[in-house]
Amino acid sequence: MVLGGETGLSAGRTPTIELSASRHALVARTPVRRALPQRARRTVGAWCFADHMGPVSPDSDPVGIGPHPHMGLHTVTWLVEGELLHRDSLGSEQTIRPGQLNLMTAGGGVSHAEELTEQFRGGLHGIQLWVAQPDATRWGAPAFEHHAELPQVELTTGTATVLVGELAGTASPARTDTALVGAELRLRPGSPLVPLETGFEHALVVLAGAVEVDGQWVTSGHLGYLSPGRDEVALGTTDDSRVLLIGGTPFGSPIVMWWNFVGRSRREMADSGSEWNAGAERFGETGSPMARIPAPTPPWRDPVG
Ligand code: MN
Repeated sequence: MVLGGETGLSAGRTPTIELSASRHALVARTPVRRALPQRARRTVGAWCFADHMGPVSPDSDPVGIGPHPHMGLHTVTWLVEGELLHRDSLGSEQTIRPGQLNLMTAGGGVSHAEELTEQFRGGLHGIQLWVAQPDATRWGAPAFEHHAELPQVELTTGTATVLVGELAGTASPARTDTALVGAELRLRPGSPLVPLETGFEHALVVLAGAVEVDGQWVTSGHLGYLSPGRDEVALGTTDDSRVLLIGGTPFGSPIVMWWNFVGRSRREMADSGSEWNAGAERFGETGSPMARIPAPTPPWRDPVG
């Protein structure tokens, strides 16, 4: 498929990647670059949150994240370097290492902690993303999956690991509640074509190195957005690079996000925060030795909406 020109789709304009800067934040003493959400772009498919963590060296003393709740979302954790111990209210206790996927489904309520492990003393580098659950499953049961091995797709100059969904006909075994893709592309110098699902919107988050797309360089600290209608993208690199590709069908429902919750109204958010602070059963117990993180007070004057 050819975009632009006489297809009339974009009236002679070639497709252009849209770059926006991530916000810098500190999470558990670890610097993160928050690529999603952004004011002008809340979601990419059902992806609604993307924190690129680190890289930090061991002497920066990262601390892990104590027990906290989630609702209405899946957490997707992917490490480039380091090791974390995931504990959740389902009784899961799972160490995650680079190349492995942790996928937790919150549904109506879950809690977890992400601890540093005793034995690992290296740096930390990775990404944690959230996927908004659709109305059909967002009040459903929580769940946890760990995938130690994931399918790969060979590119002309690189390899794609399929975390969720499907890329080039290769499907991940991980759960998806909406049409979605998430893949890590490890690229050597070159310009491989990566096939895309035409009905999806996509975005790139560069974890290391840099990629050239539509004549613009995308580096860490930016979200590179690709609107629906593309069936492939060329990713030019001159140095070894690592990029996360996310995408999906534009999310149908307007979502509300606050603290660790995804829902549809401020009332849902505020009530969930109060219930966590009151020790409500819906969020369970993680068994983590770390201190629970209390929900803050919502910033809205009137939490009904
Ligand atoms: Mn979490």
